[in-house]
Amino acid sequence: MINDKTIAWTVDRNVDNLTFSTEILEAAEHIKQNRVIAFPTETVYGLGGNAESDEAINLIFQAKGRPSDNPLIVHIASEDQVERYVEEIPNKAKALMDAFWPGPLTIVFRHNGTLSTKVTAGLETVAIRMPDHPVALAIIEAAGRPVAAPSANRSGRPSPTTAAHVHEDLSGRIAGIVDGGKTGVGVESTVVDCTSQDVMILRPGGLTREAIEQAVGKVLVDPALTEIDQAPRSPGMKYTHYAPTAPLILVEGDRDFFCEQIDDAKASGKKVGALVTDDCHGLTTAHKEVRIGPRADLSTVAQQLYPALRSFAKNEVDVIFAQVFPESDLGSAIMNRLRKAAGGMIIHQHENK
Ligand code: AMP
Ligand code: MG
Repeated sequence: MINDKTIAWTVDRNVDNLTFSTEILEAAEHIKQNRVIAFPTETVYGLGGNAESDEAINLIFQAKGRPSDNPLIVHIASEDQVERYVEEIPNKAKALMDAFWPGPLTIVFRHNGTLSTKVTAGLETVAIRMPDHPVALAIIEAAGRPVAAPSANRSGRPSPTTAAHVHEDLSGRIAGIVDGGKTGVGVESTVVDCTSQDVMILRPGGLTREAIEQAVGKVLVDPALTEIDQAPRSPGMKYTHYAPTAPLILVEGDRDFFCEQIDDAKASGKKVGALVTDDCHGLTTAHKEVRIGPRADLSTVAQQLYPALRSFAKNEVDVIFAQVFPESDLGSAIMNRLRKAAGGMIIHQHENK
């Protein structure tokens, strides 16, 4: 249901001069007035507000139900905006900006105090990115302000990859939603810390570690991403995220082992859901199988992941099973999101894992 308080705009991402289209100008006006609106980026839909306004940032946290110690990413429309908000642009950060902006890479800098302290959750650093989506860029440009934009979902839910997902979560809670079609990458940006000598990945995402290393050489990965008892350096990584409506259990093992877990759960009287890659489709006994693409095509799996997690209605199934993916390329981001959605629940075929 679309609440009539939340305006719905539809824009065609391919038209020329988007920045001057009526819908974009209207949406941008809400940002100027310190209200919040959702819009598409190339990763997922974002919920944007004026990053210089405490009032706007409060509205973002309220609409999402997001804990206020979880900082927001600031979105800009051109590289030269960065220097207004940061103490310095380290050489490696500059190399990354040149290589990957606009694109799914968020860079953490030391800030200069210009932005709302609510955006940075009181940290000395700020996370900035330039999205690679004509609608997002047009809105930021037309607003003439840096736009803080977390994913446009209720906190804890899978991130939205369509405007319909945003309506599901936020209708009636925000000023408007700009529908610019499905997002491309499907998982959020990669977050890298560039405040020390070595670049460190704080959150795996749409840009792979391999691609980053080609641009700046060896990078570190926050140990908290692999070691459960480490406190993460990226505050948002400690929260439960992306949770579907039933518990998700990951399965590490071959296809037969995966099918057996589903059989066993069914035998114990459970209604079972399964996220399946194409090679498993039709082979499990799950009550509901949701396809997430060919196992070897990680880009498609990344695009399908959140819609698949959202596709189980409340009480439709009692448990959902999913197979794990190799942790390289986009597999790192996919596994990071799956692990969080599963709250750490994983079954191993071989005990020594
Ligand atoms: P979201 O907006 O939901 O995509 O999440 C943004 C994430 O970026 C946060 O949850 C943090 O983990 C990370 N982040 C934002 N600002 C900072 C920062 N200053 N330092 C480290 N991580 C950050
Ligand atoms: Mg999010």
